[in-house]
Amino acid sequence: MTKQAPPARPLVDRYGRHISYLRISVTDRCDFRCVYCMAENMTFLPKKEVLSFEEIETIAMSFIGRGVGKIRLTGGEPLVRRDIMDLVQTLGSRIGAGGLEELTLTTNGSQLAKHAQGLHAAGVRRINVSLDTLDPQRFRDITRRGRIEDVMSGIDAAQAAGIAIKINMVAMAGVNEDEIEPMMAWAHGRGMGLTLIEGMPLGDVGIDRVDSYLPLRELHDRLARRYSLTKLDKRTGGPARYVHVAETDGVLGFITPMSHNFCESCNRVRLTATGQLFMCLGQDDQVNLRDALRDGGAEALDAALDQAMLLKPKGHDFVLDRNRPTPAVTRHMSVTGG
Ligand code: SAM
Ligand code: SF4
Repeated sequence: MTKQAPPARPLVDRYGRHISYLRISVTDRCDFRCVYCMAENMTFLPKKEVLSFEEIETIAMSFIGRGVGKIRLTGGEPLVRRDIMDLVQTLGSRIGAGGLEELTLTTNGSQLAKHAQGLHAAGVRRINVSLDTLDPQRFRDITRRGRIEDVMSGIDAAQAAGIAIKINMVAMAGVNEDEIEPMMAWAHGRGMGLTLIEGMPLGDVGIDRVDSYLPLRELHDRLARRYSLTKLDKRTGGPARYVHVAETDGVLGFITPMSHNFCESCNRVRLTATGQLFMCLGQDDQVNLRDALRDGGAEALDAALDQAMLLKPKGHDFVLDRNRPTPAVTRHMSVTGG
């Protein structure tokens, strides 16, 4: 891969952290209603409030110009946005000499079968697929409406197209805790990584998160008694820590926003579907890039990025507490982009 010259004005926040990773939520809509992510009845944004592809591209280019090398498309479900492959192709064309090192996405897999080849052709080489269970009925219960067969065909198609997959599994006590080991054997058996995620208190979804909260630190210790786990150095600048599992010869990740302080190495910011730039998943500080772009053009957009760097907080303060029933952050994950 072509090594880029460092940008003239890199994005560095008040704590000296370089911002090199942008997550873009391309829609807040989704064809699933996962119990930990959305309520059964969601009110989605009016389409006119959502950034056009042209606006997303302009914003993405200004980030790339300031040294952002990695972009992840997310949502909601990125692959349900109409003509999403147009955006993927435009951004993909910036990989390499255009300044972008990697374009990737996080998807629920429901639409993956029809897009896998196109994603690969556009330069996508790795994706995350969210899957919390291998059991069809349980899958339906968790997603409230998904079909596991669609996700499985999507995974088959993506692997056939040459895209590497990491499975994301939200680990929930009393819901899918018993499937962690079978999921690991399955994912590693197919050459895919498995990353376990602790449920985060984002948005009111109408279920009691305290009951299903599964501390991954304890789970890690339990697994370490049954498997040979070797810590890997792989650092993503995010809340994930990785181990290699000797018995299954695969990589297992732990995303522990609730129990692990990862903020000191945070290298990312998140753009919502309406153009709000959030500096932290767990805090409310934001800059409105849509207004900057629509009212002031490229120059105002660039100035807004500098303003954002001044606002990036030192860290989050998620709390899961029976005495505090409201979520720590009222935005759903599908708004900020997971
Ligand atoms: N729809 C896509 C998907 O499910 O992969 C992308 C968006 S989704 C919001 C991104 C990731 O966030 C998924 O892996 C999902 O499991 C995770 N997620 C959603 N709500 C969460 C929550 N409250 N706590 C932890 N993870 C959550
Ligand atoms: Fe949709 Fe992803 Fe949220 Fe599930 S986790 S409801 S698939 S956005």
